[in-house]
Amino acid sequence: MIPAAETGPAPVSSPPKKERGTPFLLDFVPLEGEKETRLKPFFDRLREGRLSTTKCPRDGRIDWPPRVTCPRCHTESLEWIDLPDQGRLYAFSAVLGGAPLGMESEVPFAVGLVDLDGAPLRLYGRIEGRPWNELAVGEPVRVETYDVGDGRFFYRFRTVR
Ligand SMILES: [Zn+2]
Repeated sequence: MIPAAETGPAPVSSPPKKERGTPFLLDFVPLEGEKETRLKPFFDRLREGRLSTTKCPRDGRIDWPPRVTCPRCHTESLEWIDLPDQGRLYAFSAVLGGAPLGMESEVPFAVGLVDLDGAPLRLYGRIEGRPWNELAVGEPVRVETYDVGDGRFFYRFRTVR
């Protein structure tokens, strides 16, 4: 008889332990390591305070979120480009209850869509700054990157007035 250890599935590595303790499938911030994602350059740039995405050198296509393959021509030779750090609030909403696990203490908070100045992209993200009920469609916001607190970085928007 073959021991079970030789016939069972190969051991699977666990995702890195997070100080916040959020279960992996409920964690809204992506894992950023080379083992977890081919978009590591995106997160490396966030650490440097730069919001970026990919551009296809063949057809000029700029996508959001960044890709590892061009959806049009299927090349994997994509370029990284920095995105503008200013934009305008296209639409917003507020999370007043039922916040994602780990964000319960942050309620209420605003989320929204932002049109970046000079880029053909509309990004979703958290809106910081003034309270959600004082926000206005069309108002200027800026991109900011922040330390999630467990070694990961992410982006959000902040009102500028
Ligand atoms: Zn392409």
